[in-house]
Amino acid sequence: MRASSLTSLVAGAVVGTATGALRSGRVHRGRPVLWAAGALGAAVVANELAGKPALFLRWSFLRMLLGHRRLQTTWQVGDGREDALVAYVTRHARAGDVDDVIRAIDRFCLERSFLINVGEDKGEILDRVVRRIRPAVLLELGTYCGYSALRMVRAMPPDARLHSIEFSPANARIARRILEHAGVGDRVTIVVGTLGDGGPTMERLRTEHGFAAGALDFVFVDHDKDAYLPDLRRILDRQWLHPGSVVVADNVRIPGAPAYRQFMRMHEGRHWRTTEHEAHTEYQSLVKDLVLESEYLG
Ligand code: MG
Repeated sequence: MRASSLTSLVAGAVVGTATGALRSGRVHRGRPVLWAAGALGAAVVANELAGKPALFLRWSFLRMLLGHRRLQTTWQVGDGREDALVAYVTRHARAGDVDDVIRAIDRFCLERSFLINVGEDKGEILDRVVRRIRPAVLLELGTYCGYSALRMVRAMPPDARLHSIEFSPANARIARRILEHAGVGDRVTIVVGTLGDGGPTMERLRTEHGFAAGALDFVFVDHDKDAYLPDLRRILDRQWLHPGSVVVADNVRIPGAPAYRQFMRMHEGRHWRTTEHEAHTEYQSLVKDLVLESEYLG
């Protein structure tokens, strides 16, 4: 029996038993919630035993949802999965092999713990844009564990340079170790900070990393969803983009960046030309997401 069929069968049986108990009156008032929780727990166990075919029944996914508030403040789930990724990559991926490190991270996300990487499906959109425009200077907002940085390094020209901004010093350390293991640490500069910190990070980009008017060919936006538009405005205020620069934004539908999407729609054809790419949220094929690719027209 296929794993997904087994999961459906067991989950269905559990839900069916709970429903039957409710109908037969064996469940008293106040207990349905308990039964529903029990059914969910059993479905999660079945899913884990079956090899985790259903993302939304995976414990690591539910654990991430439980730690949602922490994730939004520290940018780590809180159960050590980001550190576990480093250990996994070091052990299972060939040193100096970017492809193998990317494969190992995808495998970790599918088999061990879910991570909020851009993932394979949306990652291919990112790869295609970077290959097509051949940027010399790239900026990423939201390094996390370095997965998208690896994809961009693989797709960008050999003499290009990626600058990646990460809010969490712990994540920055993790990403550096992973990039080093892949043998591309010297092609990526990770800057700890945030463009919205009132000036210091942007000033460092200007003074230490040579950011100047028209310097940026490509930006990948994948950090705090509420910061997408404010940070784009900060970049525009400094005039770091030039006509032809491309900005790609992840998660425009899930969790969602409506103000950013609205901004691009308002300026369509005048200052920006946007393509909306339909894709799936990372590491599953049920929930759809939207990746925006926007060319700056000046
Ligand atoms: Mg993302």
